[in-house]
Amino acid sequence: MRGYLVAGNWKMNGSNAANRTLVQGIVAGAPAGESVQLLVCPPFPYLAAVSEMLGDSAVALGSQNISAHDSGAFTGETAGNMLRESGCQYAIVGHSERRALMGESSQNVADKFQAALKVGLKPILCVGETLEERESGQTDAVIDEQLNAVLDTAGVESFVDAVIAYEPVWAIGTGMTASPEQAQDVHRHIRAALEAQSESVAANIKILYGGSVKGDNAAGLFSKPDIDGGLIGGASLKSDDFLAIADAAASLESR
Ligand code: PEP
Repeated sequence: MRGYLVAGNWKMNGSNAANRTLVQGIVAGAPAGESVQLLVCPPFPYLAAVSEMLGDSAVALGSQNISAHDSGAFTGETAGNMLRESGCQYAIVGHSERRALMGESSQNVADKFQAALKVGLKPILCVGETLEERESGQTDAVIDEQLNAVLDTAGVESFVDAVIAYEPVWAIGTGMTASPEQAQDVHRHIRAALEAQSESVAANIKILYGGSVKGDNAAGLFSKPDIDGGLIGGASLKSDDFLAIADAAASLESR
């Protein structure tokens, strides 16, 4: 059973006080049962404190990035073992903001994916096309290039302990959500690409959708057969908004 994952990417937002309010709200209102896993990904400086706040709740902790290196002269970078020691179980890699604003290549992302797995963190590999790429019919080719870099570097079996997030760049933070059908088409494409190499990996991996997910569009997206939850930006910063998305997942039959 794959179950649902609803992950909050806080990006560069938060403060000690705001984080406490947010975490308390999420922990108090998290849906009961095991069909929906919740995850929060705060900025690096808050990871250890948020880990403490989460305590023994079932809400998981993840980072928004990870260094491809283990240790050494990499000023400003954070290694996987440091993230583990700060309480993380997941690490987002290849978010489109990092690809676009920090110049991360698909090979950089693949190296980060491997670095996460090496220390026992589950990488959440983000892939997605720009509006220009979609409009010129390149969506599948862009996804293939981003996915193949990781498959070629780490191998299909590495996806046993990973999550994929399809995040069309044009839908992130814009209020322009992909329709459930548009998202499902790409999710199916991603699962089929994995299926070609391993049916069991493809059947078991969670593929999240990200891009302006809200409480009122989540159920429509998550009810599609290849959409296993969401990576949530803006709506992860208020517990009521985030929990509305979690509740939408919990209202669906688990699979
Ligand atoms: C994101 O940053 O991963 C994201 C999906 O943002 P938003 O939900 O705000 O579109």
